[in-house]
Amino acid sequence: MIRENLDFVEENIRKACERAGRDRSEVTLIAVSKTKPVSDIREAMAYGIKTFGENKVQEIRDKTEEITEPLNWHMIGHLQANKVKYLPGKVCMIHSVDNVKLADEIEKQFAKHDLVADILIEVNMAHEDTKFGLSPDEALGFVREISDREHIRIRGLMTIAPYTEDPESNRVYFKGLRELMNKINAENIPGVKMDTLSMGMTGDYQVAIEEGATFVRVGTGIFGERDYTKS
Ligand SMILES: *Cc1c(COP(=O)(O)O)cnc(C)c1O
Repeated sequence: MIRENLDFVEENIRKACERAGRDRSEVTLIAVSKTKPVSDIREAMAYGIKTFGENKVQEIRDKTEEITEPLNWHMIGHLQANKVKYLPGKVCMIHSVDNVKLADEIEKQFAKHDLVADILIEVNMAHEDTKFGLSPDEALGFVREISDREHIRIRGLMTIAPYTEDPESNRVYFKGLRELMNKINAENIPGVKMDTLSMGMTGDYQVAIEEGATFVRVGTGIFGERDYTKS
């Protein structure tokens, strides 16, 4: 099933790129494997997928212990500062940075390993109370504030759009995130040149690609529904 799902998702990505006049190589599919077993990840690897997303530090630790092949792991979920110490050398990007305390801890832990963390700033575009992330108004100030950290490279912005049956209704948020990135880039903050937009999930990745996504994070559409009753 995973193989067929990946065929379907890949075809949709290709078509969305075509509609938007973008090259397929501009968009990276992150296979969101949270809650899913290593056997599922191996099936996606056999298809050629090398980029996986997880939202829990412990799960990244467990899975990278079992799967030693070189893969690109992305931390896409809410991150507590006390867990950052497990991430240097394990993940290639942290998508969910939204407070100075967390940024300072990333700076500290990656400095210890002499590594630079690629991060995205999480923005709550729809101002949903239930979601993490900065409001769009706070993003510029936050980028300015953490821009001098030597072991952090701010690569771009990430958003989780509202759950909806109608992907078109999220277009405004994806467009808004792209415009926000352009606006912040135009400020010419020393050391800040963002090129990455992580937006779009199973329900809306095609619209996100049309609006400029460079990473789409697809879980259910690849691995099927998640079962949270077991844990
Ligand atoms: C779970 C998750 C996804 C994937 O969601 P699907 O709707 O299953 O594609 C994407 N992004 C984040 C941050 C997630 O936590």
